[in-house]
Amino acid sequence: MRWSLTVGSIAGTAIRIHITFLLFLVWLGTVYYRQGGAEAAWQGTIFIVLIFICVLLHELGHVFAALRYGVKTRDVTLWPFGGIASMERMPEKPGEELIVALAGPAVNVAIAGALLLWLGSRFDPANLAKFEDPTISLAVKLAGINIILVLFNMLPAFPMDGGRVLRALLAMRMGNARATELAAVIGQGFAIVFGILGILYNPMLIIIAAFIFLAASGEMTQAQLRAVAQGTLVSDAMITEFQSLPASATVADAADALIRTTQTEFPIVDGAGHLRGVLTRDAMIKALKQRGPDSPVLEVMQPDIPTVSTRAKLDTALRSLMQRGHPVVGVTDGEKRLVGLLTVENLGEMMMVHSARPDMDTGTWRKTRR
Ligand SMILES: [Zn+2]
Repeated sequence: MRWSLTVGSIAGTAIRIHITFLLFLVWLGTVYYRQGGAEAAWQGTIFIVLIFICVLLHELGHVFAALRYGVKTRDVTLWPFGGIASMERMPEKPGEELIVALAGPAVNVAIAGALLLWLGSRFDPANLAKFEDPTISLAVKLAGINIILVLFNMLPAFPMDGGRVLRALLAMRMGNARATELAAVIGQGFAIVFGILGILYNPMLIIIAAFIFLAASGEMTQAQLRAVAQGTLVSDAMITEFQSLPASATVADAADALIRTTQTEFPIVDGAGHLRGVLTRDAMIKALKQRGPDSPVLEVMQPDIPTVSTRAKLDTALRSLMQRGHPVVGVTDGEKRLVGLLTVENLGEMMMVHSARPDMDTGTWRKTRR
């Protein structure tokens, strides 16, 4: 991600700080300085940094729980509004998703618990939320922040952890797709309430409401896609009419094909019909600019394209497409020759067909048309 600094790495996960967070710290320091001088500026900045360490530990809770189920996380980025962990995927078993979702808030429960234990009789619950009061100790404020983090994250609305907990609990009783739909509708209900409260009290809530609303629709689409993919074979969803380029082609040949067809990704296929790589439109334009039209496509293509067999289930292909960010997945026959392609766009089209006629599975629909 651009505009973020990598400050370290834990268990294969890069820890990043977005530049806006650093600007936020500078701004906050200035505000505190104007109010109470250098001492206040330091106090305020240290408090914010400690809050963000708690947020980071929360995200790492998710990361380590996911790692137990073989799910890696590329990076955790700290933004002024919180942390975002970019996990490869969510574990599909509801029990595992439940553990991963709960692991984050559990970290904050542990921090708050430890601080309260340490404070012992010095602790007065009335002081928990007095974040602006300089006479209240940092430990009390930090305990208060961790309690707020738990409550906020456990709201039963995507993308909050509570939304995932709710989905996992529902999925134990009904199908995954149905559970997501119900959890998303509940989340959108919350978003509407948030939006109304935002108009009345605090505009910040309107932004959070919009964020929740969009995240809920995104989750719903993904779950529907997964549900359709589970019952479909790759051969029923793949593109079979496409233009490929020979291994001897140049970037100029590729540019020619780009203009003649509606394709934006071109498979490079050798004499034996095996997939060597894929040239995307962006890589092609970049190569034209930087290396000239005569450079061979073999040198500018993306070589490590995953392939699946025509008899594979569509959800396996979907996983490679979504998780690792490949532009396409190649489909091969028994002799490993390229016979089809899967792209995000063509899966989207399959979803449109499916939602227009949910009673018909795409496989039979295609067969009757042939
Ligand atoms: Zn979380």
